[in-house]
Amino acid sequence: MSVSNFEFKAEVKELLNLVINSLYSHKEIFLRELLSNASDAINKARYLSLTENDFKIDSSGWKIKIVIDRENKTLTISDNGIGMDRDDIINNLGTIAKSGTKEFAEKIKKIKETGDMSLIGQFGVGFYSAFMVAEKIEVTSQKIGAASAVKWSSSADGSYTVEDVEKDGNGTDVKLFIKDEDKEFLDSWRIKGIVKKYSDYIEYPIVMDVEKDNKVEEETINSMQAIWLKNRSDVKQEEYNEFYKHISHDFMDPLETIHYKAEGTLEFTALLFIPSKKPFDIYYKSGKFGPALYVKKVQIMEACEELVPQYLRFVKGVVDSSDLPLNVSREMLQNNRQITQINKNITKKILDTVKLMKKNDFSKYEIFHNEFGNVLKEGIHTDFEKKEEIASLIIFNTLKNLDKKIDFDTYLENMADNQEEIYYITGDTIEEIQKSPQLEYFKDKGIDVILLTGEIDEIIMGSLNEYKGKKVKSIVKGEIKIDESVKNEIKKKEEEFKDLIDKLKEYLKDNVKDVKPGTRLKDSLCCLIGDEHDIDDNMRRLFESMGQKIPESKKILEINFYHPVTNKMKALFDVDPKSPKIKDYAELIFDLALISNGEKPRNTVDFTKKISELMSESI
Ligand code: ADP
Repeated sequence: MSVSNFEFKAEVKELLNLVINSLYSHKEIFLRELLSNASDAINKARYLSLTENDFKIDSSGWKIKIVIDRENKTLTISDNGIGMDRDDIINNLGTIAKSGTKEFAEKIKKIKETGDMSLIGQFGVGFYSAFMVAEKIEVTSQKIGAASAVKWSSSADGSYTVEDVEKDGNGTDVKLFIKDEDKEFLDSWRIKGIVKKYSDYIEYPIVMDVEKDNKVEEETINSMQAIWLKNRSDVKQEEYNEFYKHISHDFMDPLETIHYKAEGTLEFTALLFIPSKKPFDIYYKSGKFGPALYVKKVQIMEACEELVPQYLRFVKGVVDSSDLPLNVSREMLQNNRQITQINKNITKKILDTVKLMKKNDFSKYEIFHNEFGNVLKEGIHTDFEKKEEIASLIIFNTLKNLDKKIDFDTYLENMADNQEEIYYITGDTIEEIQKSPQLEYFKDKGIDVILLTGEIDEIIMGSLNEYKGKKVKSIVKGEIKIDESVKNEIKKKEEEFKDLIDKLKEYLKDNVKDVKPGTRLKDSLCCLIGDEHDIDDNMRRLFESMGQKIPESKKILEINFYHPVTNKMKALFDVDPKSPKIKDYAELIFDLALISNGEKPRNTVDFTKKISELMSESI
């Protein structure tokens, strides 16, 4: 059949360029990536051979073979795994999963701007890394069960070709035409060294031909020991790191390694990793997540979501259980008691590890929290049983801790004896939040307030509701517990200003739910607050950004009756209760409150007109 020509998608071209031109200091990792793909392909074939009877699969001789042809300057990596058909090969080697997303484009831009190549690992550039050493790549593949094979070929020049070909048996041959300057990769010692370094634990033999007594024999290069089944004391951290990169396609070392065997009624081995950077698609719940599930060294699933809760979806690794049947299906996993117990056990282990990190190595913990804090927090909303434990792991800035982050326990320790509630406020940036008029009372009284900037923090705090018996309270909603003395003074003011307040309520009845003397204001004239159970502004914006319209609910206008403006208004009102100026001022006060809430005045023309009139009167 004829050869078909295809253009790479634009984003593949960009990524290819980045990989070829920027990852060159780590060229040798291309082999790790290709061997990883080969072993993944065999994992899939082996699983099929155990679960499907329709295919005649020879499951005796799984292997990966490396062939060096010095004469033609090629290096070929062959596997007898699942293989790819025409559609697979176009989808897998011509596009990048999720590459059409905004996040992808932003990440590419960021890599270009910052030159931070570590970000590239987040894409799983895998296969394309081979173009660092190859001027051309040919991939010949036959899918299990297919009658013919297909050949993909490209010189990374923006296009690739696909044609039907003949091949002996299922699996994939990746043939690299090595660049002149990279001929070190045609040296069998060099190749053996790289295999030993990066891929020793691959469970299948990686073989090369050697000449012995004038005969060619296959020599196995790797030791094939499943690293997770070894004793912890027998594994070096570098070996863990390499294994992590093998399974995650990350280019960076993991932040934390967790390796343990559960024994007793529930037997399994877990080798888990917390990455040091979040993948770019961590907020897409559609992406597959979870450690790989093995049953007695056989991979059953590459990413098993049932093994960890969503809020720990950043954890990578392997769980190997001897209690599960080999042909366990997805449906069975969802209702499987053992899986539920393993999930519980792993969740506890990960949370304990993170807790220890926080206690013993706070700067490392800050890295963790920066990357994964917002994901972890989701657990406060979704895991009722563990919400307080998860909350204890969250760190934040507060009014009194702007330079370092603290946790809820430290906040509680620093609270005065008579403070009954934990206070927080949310906003876009710490700088902006600090200017909120609602904070003035707290600043004046030296009461600490938690400052939060995460998009979902409002929802999370609402779910938390209490921490160690203390109510967690937004300072922009409902009543706050204030000093008796302040309360009495405000009561007095309320009586003194009663008629004026009633007038303001009348003028603003379409805009606000109520007008009250400000309990949280010190220097500012006014602010808006919500009722205890109102939806918060940040949350409203979040929902609206997701296309969900939330009905507006009117706010309560708090006015500072110690402010010179209100006192002058009262003097005017006492003399002339019907003065039109009072109405103008009422409108202005409401618009000012909107502005300090980060919104626009209702009618900017009216607003500016009123302000300029005021200016001309007072200048
Ligand atoms: P990743 O391995 O991170 O998904 P790659 O670019 O390395 O990214 O590979 C893309 C996809 O191509 C793989 O997910 C797999 O489906 C397919 N693939 C690559 N190599 C092989 C192989 N040797 N056998 C079968 N499929 C392969």
